Amino acid sequence: MMPRNAERTAAPEKVSEAGSARKEEPYRQSVGQVAAALETDTEQGLSAEEAARRLSRFGRNELTEEKPPSRWRRFLSQFKDVLVLLLIAAALISGLLWLVEPDTQLPYEAIAILAIVFLNAAIGYLQEARASEAVTALRQMTAVQSTVLRGGEQREIAIAELVPGDVLLLEEGDAVSADARLIETASLRAIEAALTGESQPVAKDTEPLARAAALGDRSNMVFSGTSVARGRGRAIVTATGMRTEMGRIAGLLKVTRDQRTPLQRELDRVGRLLGAAVVAIATVIIAMILLIEEIDGLTALFDVLIFGVAIAVAAVPEGLPAIITAVLAVGVQRMAVRNAVIRHLSAVETLGSADVIASDKTGTLTRNEMTVRRVVTASGAVEFEGTGYAPQGAMHRPGGEAVEAALKEEVLLALAAGARANNARIEEVEGRWTVKGDPTEGALVVAACKAGLGKEVADRFERVHELPFSSERKLMSTIHEDGDAGPFRLFTKGAPEVLLSRSTQELVGSEPRPLTEERRSQIQTANEELAGQALRTLATGYRSLPSGQLGGADGRSAERDLIFLGLIGIMDPPREEARRAVARARSAGIRPVMVTGDHPRTAAVIARELGITEDERAVTGTELETMSDEDLDRVVAETSVFARVDPEHKLRIVEAFGRAGLTVAMTGDGVNDAPALKASDIGIAMGITGTDVSKEASDMVLADDNFATIVAAVEEGRTIFANIRKFMRYLLSSNIGEVMTMFFGVLLAEAIGLRAAGSGGIVLPLLATQILWINLVTDGAPALALGGDPADPDAMRRPPRPRDEGVVTPRMWIGIAFVGAIMAAGTILVLDASLPGGFIDGSGTLAYGRTMAFTTLMLFQLFNVFNARSDEQSAFVGLFANRWLWAAVGLSLALHAAVIYAPFLQAAFSTVAIGIGDWALCAAAASSVLWLREIEKFFTRRLAGRHRRRADDGMADAY
Ligand code: ATP
Repeated sequence: MMPRNAERTAAPEKVSEAGSARKEEPYRQSVGQVAAALETDTEQGLSAEEAARRLSRFGRNELTEEKPPSRWRRFLSQFKDVLVLLLIAAALISGLLWLVEPDTQLPYEAIAILAIVFLNAAIGYLQEARASEAVTALRQMTAVQSTVLRGGEQREIAIAELVPGDVLLLEEGDAVSADARLIETASLRAIEAALTGESQPVAKDTEPLARAAALGDRSNMVFSGTSVARGRGRAIVTATGMRTEMGRIAGLLKVTRDQRTPLQRELDRVGRLLGAAVVAIATVIIAMILLIEEIDGLTALFDVLIFGVAIAVAAVPEGLPAIITAVLAVGVQRMAVRNAVIRHLSAVETLGSADVIASDKTGTLTRNEMTVRRVVTASGAVEFEGTGYAPQGAMHRPGGEAVEAALKEEVLLALAAGARANNARIEEVEGRWTVKGDPTEGALVVAACKAGLGKEVADRFERVHELPFSSERKLMSTIHEDGDAGPFRLFTKGAPEVLLSRSTQELVGSEPRPLTEERRSQIQTANEELAGQALRTLATGYRSLPSGQLGGADGRSAERDLIFLGLIGIMDPPREEARRAVARARSAGIRPVMVTGDHPRTAAVIARELGITEDERAVTGTELETMSDEDLDRVVAETSVFARVDPEHKLRIVEAFGRAGLTVAMTGDGVNDAPALKASDIGIAMGITGTDVSKEASDMVLADDNFATIVAAVEEGRTIFANIRKFMRYLLSSNIGEVMTMFFGVLLAEAIGLRAAGSGGIVLPLLATQILWINLVTDGAPALALGGDPADPDAMRRPPRPRDEGVVTPRMWIGIAFVGAIMAAGTILVLDASLPGGFIDGSGTLAYGRTMAFTTLMLFQLFNVFNARSDEQSAFVGLFANRWLWAAVGLSLALHAAVIYAPFLQAAFSTVAIGIGDWALCAAAASSVLWLREIEKFFTRRLAGRHRRRADDGMADAY
């Protein structure tokens, strides 16, 4: 990852002041020279005090970014929206009209519109800032750290704190966060594509170069912004911050990505659609009025403009963008609480429509608490007692008898090899034994201790080389100096099939014997048996080497002609919560799939225990390789366990699901998982065991590496989406209600007695300020409260939402239009009843009639908020579940009362005080939306019930 923000830093003068081709460049110097120049100790690293001194001298290891847009600019960007511009135009027109004909003390309408525009911009700005802060904070939770030596101790530090002279420890999958000169390597390869464009990993060593070399050829250096493809290494930091090679070209890399999610883009489209609708409706009505009524020039123009302003105000859901951002931000935080850390906001939406969750096994579906249970060698088998990493527990024959001489010798050697080709340590911390390093390797150390091999393993041979483990090779070896016999020894552990194919002999007692075909097949059968007991299997072997030098490509040719030592069966129990999560995923119509590097039998048995598969069928990576894409498409349709797969197979599996039109969430932890993570709809990295590279390629990181967390995140994703739909339903129906009220109010003005004393032009049923007020009051708190509605208990009992289904479905539009029509009809009727003449004769003034209509329309919104919680469920189900909603309704009522009774506001909004009987009438009319919608929902449920009985799908509209 590229370091972000803040000031620039420098490397020490000795090195950085040298010109690029000068001899003082670290890649041209020996390790000793570099260490001396940077005044550091390759074994101890810097002391904490020295590191602190250098940090204050050179500054933090961060790249200066292009300045983020100023607050002012970010505030201004809130006004870019088409709908906001429409409102500003409306305010200007209204202000001009007031100037020409000042009918009130102040241009209240223009002021109100502008105030609302500003208020919304302010809310939008704050929400956006909050959302981006939330995402940044979450990113920091998964921020990359660097491992360094400080005062002889291995320490994890924030990358910003790296200083020149630090000794950096690098492992497969690590991001390199500073430029550094390598001082030790074991099969180290780095991915430098970001810097040099070279897509293949480049091999690294420690040899100084004789002449000046281009970046890509500096084989003894690693650079900031690159990552470790495989192997390990140690390096001295030579440059940090802007002095790194990446820092120099940082200016070129500033790509601003469109961070808007598909949902936000869709909402932009809805916004534009509304804008266009306003213009169209206004034009139609104006044309009609001009045709019907004979009005003269200036008055007509005024009327037209006033009407245009009002209809624009009515149609615009002012608060929508701010609410969407708020709901997404709150959702992201809710997910974080459940250990799912979102890196890309769009994942929140995509998660809700996940069809397939393809998960690793080890550590995600299982506990990653490894215990060696059984060792099988040429002379028989032994079992181990004890659980966890405490090195206590007896070793005995399966029947309980003592282990006799030959078997014991074989077992000890098999375990010694496993404990040597090993980088894990076990430690007792406060009475609890834990592993530092790979749990599989930790289990081998524990078993070796249980067998009585303690110090001997550590002391006898000194390690000179390591051939690191990788998921592709499925092997790891170390080369040791043999203190007794002179030459060298290679110890190997790895997947039994791989190890067996590289072995020619087998240890029997203390003698190597040729490995016959019969024995090979017996070993394979024993391996299958171990796997059938859900044990993770590993084999060990060794050989003598004439020299400690690595021959061939990275010395891997040394891993042949091995003497096979034995099979080791390791227990890694399934996670209890994973079993429940699998069942939950299934009931939600999501298919859990296991994709593992482990043995197919082990995988299948565990998959069955977890409920991922009923049969024990598993497809292996080797089988996958021989398949065409068409074959694979058929296989993924019915297979849920993929075993012994390489990371590149994962990519093919993701692609096959993609071809089937399914939305896939895929987990990964290694460097080579990155392409599959990127290709999947939701790439999920492991927070604990995952490499930096995989985290950066992911959309979401599991803080606890747990499968159950993915399912929880899907549930949250579904809830968020359902809530967004709820307030969309609510806001849009309220806007449509307002537009219809204005439209039909003006159209039917004569019929309902809507006329102003002495003028013949258009008389608006409600003033633009009043509509704005309704929008402000109802779009604010109640809509926001809807966004925080608790999860629907049925959210995980429905099939996933199809990816191409919009936020507002056609079915929702029908509901929205239905509600809008009821609101308009009710409001117009109350208006009619309040004014003299019309269908229902009343006796009030125009101001009184408008106040009544205003109050009715406002109450309509408050009743409708309960409707909007579902298209299918009755509003009375869980009526009190969301307390915020009730608080919001209370607040809205209080605000509305203020507008009607406070004299200053009365003047601004042209309202008059109304009595308790008037309130009752308005409330009765407004409650119709609740009853009518209940009736409609009742029939919808009956219909849906019938559908469901017939076919168990097609219900996405229901939430
Ligand atoms: P998953 O992909 O579900 O996490 P996994 O962790 O079992 O599965 P890998 O780590 O790729 O997959 O391991 C594949 C095989 O390699 C294992 O079944 C085991 O036989 C062998 N193996 C695992 N860890 C090591 C190791 N540290 N050294 C040598 N061999 C190992």
